[in-house]
Amino acid sequence: MTQASTTPLANSFRAQPDENGHFGQFGGRYVAETLMPLILDLDRHYRAAMADQAFHDEFDWLMKHYVGRPSPLYYAQRLTETLRESAPEGRGAQVWFKRDELNHTGAHKINNCIGQILLAKRMGKTRIIAETGAGQHGVATATVAARFGLPCVIYMGARDIERQQPNVFRMKLLGAEVVPVQSGAKTLKDAMNEALRDWVANVHDTFYIIGTAAGPHPYPELVREFQSVIGREAREQIQELAGRLPDLLVAAIGGGSNAIGLFHPFLDDADVAMLGIEAAGHGIETGEHAASLAGGTPGILHGNKTFLLQDADGQIAEAHSISAGLDYPGIGPEHSWLKDIGRVQYESVTDTEALDAFQLLCRTEGIIPALEPAHAIAAVARKARAMNRDQIILANLCGRGDKDIFTVADALGVAM
Ligand SMILES: *Cc1c(COP(=O)(O)O)cnc(C)c1O
Repeated sequence: MTQASTTPLANSFRAQPDENGHFGQFGGRYVAETLMPLILDLDRHYRAAMADQAFHDEFDWLMKHYVGRPSPLYYAQRLTETLRESAPEGRGAQVWFKRDELNHTGAHKINNCIGQILLAKRMGKTRIIAETGAGQHGVATATVAARFGLPCVIYMGARDIERQQPNVFRMKLLGAEVVPVQSGAKTLKDAMNEALRDWVANVHDTFYIIGTAAGPHPYPELVREFQSVIGREAREQIQELAGRLPDLLVAAIGGGSNAIGLFHPFLDDADVAMLGIEAAGHGIETGEHAASLAGGTPGILHGNKTFLLQDADGQIAEAHSISAGLDYPGIGPEHSWLKDIGRVQYESVTDTEALDAFQLLCRTEGIIPALEPAHAIAAVARKARAMNRDQIILANLCGRGDKDIFTVADALGVAM
């Protein structure tokens, strides 16, 4: 990627954030005074890296030879035909998948981790930290830390450690130290606070790898940049394979990194509609969900202003989803802005709908998806039936389902 091709016009949807990290009223850097110099330093190094072709070349090389990119773009013919059987006459859009589940480590998170560890190396940092909820970002971070030979500490809520033993063991195999966080509810937001504390204390040698398009500026922007490899590839591939741009993009949203990575390169394509899918858990009305846009209000979390799950006193509420990777209590600030201005639509999908879609994809395409993209697939089924047959939906298959088969067995009442 050359600098010229990634710099959008000033009046473009792709021109955000401003220099203080604001996407409209969202984003920014709401951090302690002590963190400001670190964040400004990161910002300087990030801009220098973006202007340095050698940085892009190394990123591209690792994407190709280590991650396995470009991931294929795949026309899901049997799923398309199956959805047409229950659609009104003449309806049933073509469904295409961006196969990011085929990446090394089985999801999109590695794209971002590679970008950030290259930044760490460039800044001369010799120690990596991260926080993780379900453990997937922890595993991706431990993976790149091993690849670059850097010591790595992963903060994880003590309750999450109990619930996510396989990922804890993976991180340990990869050489990471997993630190149980005993404060608060002992889950993701407590781990985020602990990681920020470590960063302040050890800034001279430590780089903090944030796992979604959130955090204080410039994190939402740089995570988006590294994940935009998804949308850049997809935009080229669909034009080559279908001869035109898609009518609708669909992606599941935890914090929103795979979604913004798919959407961003298409934001100025006025005829491409976009749909972000939040996890509705047991249903928005039950309060047990992870849908920050549908069921949350604006506030400050993790160094930025965005929609959050919080109570009347501003206490962060626990998110719920059958998919561990979607239960982040906030959403990246760019999504809050894209919702505000109406450029992207957001809907939600329940646990039950996601489980149905999970099984549908297994049986029609021979692909076991992660429960996160199963939410996107449920929305694809909803939309495809209402669209014309010559229309194209392109959805991000952001992770594979090996990690989720026990959860699914449990939810289906199957003994394993
Ligand atoms: C972590 C994860 C997500 C949610 O994170 P985003 O930042 O919203 O992309 C979605 N899918 C998979 C497979 C994940 O591992």
